[in-house]
Order: sequence, then C-alpha cells, then structure tokens
Amino acid sequence: MTQKKTKTQAQTLVVGAGLSGAVIARRLAEEKNESVLVIDRREQIGGNCFDQKIEGITIHRYGAHIFHTDDQQVWTWLSRFTCWHEYRHQVQAQLRDQLIFLPFNLNALEQCFAPEKVTLMKKTLKQHFASGQKVTILQLRQIQDPVLQELADYVYEHIFLHYTLKQWECRLEDLDMSVAARVPVVFDRDDHYFANRYQAIPAQGYTAMIEKILDHPLVQVRLDTDYQSLKNQVFRHVYFTGAIDEFGDYCFGPLPYRSLEFVNQKLDQEYYQAVSVVNYPETQEFTRIIEHKHFLAEKTPYTWITREYPRCFVLGQGERYYPIQNQANQELYRRYRDHLASHQDITFLGRLGDYQYYDMDKAVARALNLELR
Ligand SMILES: Cc1cc2nc3c(=O)[nH]c(=O)nc-3n(C[C@H](O)[C@H](O)[C@H](O)COP(=O)(O)OP(=O)(O)OC[C@H]3O[C@@H](n4cnc5c(N)ncnc54)[C@H](O)[C@@H]3O)c2cc1C
Repeated sequence: MTQKKTKTQAQTLVVGAGLSGAVIARRLAEEKNESVLVIDRREQIGGNCFDQKIEGITIHRYGAHIFHTDDQQVWTWLSRFTCWHEYRHQVQAQLRDQLIFLPFNLNALEQCFAPEKVTLMKKTLKQHFASGQKVTILQLRQIQDPVLQELADYVYEHIFLHYTLKQWECRLEDLDMSVAARVPVVFDRDDHYFANRYQAIPAQGYTAMIEKILDHPLVQVRLDTDYQSLKNQVFRHVYFTGAIDEFGDYCFGPLPYRSLEFVNQKLDQEYYQAVSVVNYPETQEFTRIIEHKHFLAEKTPYTWITREYPRCFVLGQGERYYPIQNQANQELYRRYRDHLASHQDITFLGRLGDYQYYDMDKAVARALNLELR
C-alpha cells in the first residue's frame, strides 16, 4: 500500500549535512531564496570531514583530511566561510628498514639502493622521463628496460603490493586507474605529498567551516534524522547526498565499499612521529598512523594518534568510506542512476550519491556547478 505524502514548510530537502549537502543548501538559500531543511542521520554536521577539538588537539574523526586544490572557484567560495592555516602535507612510509617520504622520489631512490645502482637508475630514468615527471607505478612497470624493471619491482613490492591488499583486498591492477594515480612515482626531490596551488586546513577546523556554510536564515538543520522518517513528506525537490543504492532499496544489490576502523590513543609525550601521516605498506595490520596535532600545529605536552585498519563494509555495520572503483561496480552504479532517473524531484550528489571517490574540492565543485532545480 502506498503511503500518503504530507506537506512540510521547507520547500527543499537536503539529505546529508556533509560538505556536498552544506554547499547545495547554501546555494539554494542564497541564489534561489529558498527555505531548506538539511537533515543528517548522524548526531553532528560535517559528514566525513567532521573534526572535533579535544583537550587542545583537533581530531579528524573520519580519517586525515587535507584540503588541496587548483580550483580557484572552489578556493574562493570556501574562503568566505573560513580562514586557512597554511599546511604542506608530508607523508612518510615505514618500510622494513627505511623511513621514506611518499610519493617515492629521487631522495627515496637514494635511500633504498646502493650508490652505483642509484647512478645507473638515475641515468636510465633521464632517458625515459623529464625531470619532475609523474608516472603511476603501473606505467613504470610497463617500461621494457631491466634497470627500470628493478626499480619498478622494488617500488611495487615495498610500497604498493601489500598496502593495496590491506586497503582494498585486491591488487592495484584490479582497480580503476585513478586509484594508482593518487600515489604516483615522481622524478624530483620534493618531499611534499601534493603539488596543488592551494593547500591548507580550515583554521578553526572543518566542522566550524561547514557550520558557517549552513548558517543562513533560510537553512534549518535537523540532526539524528534519517531520510526514512521524512520520505512520506512532500518537498519541492530533494538533494540526496546519501547512498544511491540505499535510496533504491538495494534493488540491484548493494554497491561495494571499503570501510575503516579507527583506533585512537592518547600518548603522554609531545610528539609520536615527525609528520601527520605515516603509512605502513609492509608491516602491521593497520595501514597508517595519523598524529592529529600536526595539521594545525597545535602545541600540547601530550598527543593523540589514530591507527587506521581497513575493513570490509557490511550493510548495517560500520560506515561506507571508499567506493571500490572498478568496471563492474561502475556498471552497478549506472543501473541505479538510470533506474532512479525517472524521479524528477530528486538529485543525487556527493561521494555516496554519485558513488565516486571525491576529494573535498571535487565534492564542492560538483555542488557548486550543479544546476539548481
Ligand atoms: C578516510 C578518508 C580520508 C579522506 N581524506 C581526504 C583528504 O585528505 N582530502 C580531501 O580532499 N578529501 C578527503 N576525503 C574525501 C572527503 O571525505 C569527501 O570529499 C567529503 O566527505 C565528501 O562530502 P559528502 O558531503 O559528499 O559526503 P559525506 O561527508 O559522506 O556526507 C554525507 C552525509 O550524509 C549523511 N547521510 C547519508 N545517508 C543519509 C540518510 N539516509 N539520511 C540522513 N543522512 C544521511 C551521512 O551521515 C553524512 O553525514 C577523504 C575521505 C575518506 C573516506
């Protein structure tokens, strides 16, 4: 039996108070003068960007979040709602007998190989690549040169193979190319993780920035509220940033995701590690350790660290983190998208609505460039 829909005062409903939902709600209020109800099933705003200051240290609750972009429009738009703390991200990888910076570069090469080998490898690299050029490990492995094969095998084995098995439970080759492209091999000496023009952390944290985006007289936020509870109310339009397969009642089966378990620990020492993120590609069950105080250069006599354990995502347990991007899953996503396209009063967006790994800038750009209905 179909249930009767009831009217509500807000014209538009935004499901999800993460970055995507907040940006779209603000635009609706500012550009269309529309009253908007934003709901989230969690007890706080911010989605996966949620952070929280505990005893002087801002903790990234859903994994380390570093804002980086070349998109001027996104940077300018977000800068209306936050001051920025300049931050250049550095990631180290704890190999069995080396601590190197990622992405793997010429400095790491010199750490990992004997001097004669380094000279030969650098000479061979010059014949194939320009200085500063970035390649994926899969591209490097394809070069038919014994010297570069040795380098590629080393990097693949020590940095990518076990890490990918832990993180994704499959090989890098079985994932979309974009996953390998996230951590390239770089032929320069820059030990920073990103090369984007803008790199920063909101000075008061992501939650404070998103709170400001949502702070508009026409925007009302209701937390601890699942879409299920409002599904029978009438809205002029619904912007849905939750999972598209959940919206479609899993009629084609669930879209696969990887999940994470975070184990937090307070330590009675000023610092635990030199940088905010140290990866463990070879050893340990966890993939990385995050030390939160580095993000905003917070000074305390103690520190908080988080170990990140990859987990399978099981419906009804844990959170969806990473869409598993491969051809079969993209096809499954497209089936949901096409099936739901007849609902003209619903727009899907965000990392769960589009089943896409979006960095924050891409999630914001998607919400900024969406045609408002
Ligand atoms: C571990 C990890 C680390 C990351 N690090 C970075 C980084 O360093 N830099 C970077 O740029 N990006 C990073 N990202 C990506 C970043 O988290 C996303 O770009 C961003 O969270 C996208 O925002 P969103 O609003 O689309 O989704 P979300 O943040 O997931 O928000 C969706 C919201 O919808 C709510 N919701 C879902 N279903 C319902 C429902 N039925 N009813 C009510 N509410 C619902 C959820 O509770 C959630 O709050 C990282 C992602 C992960 C997983």
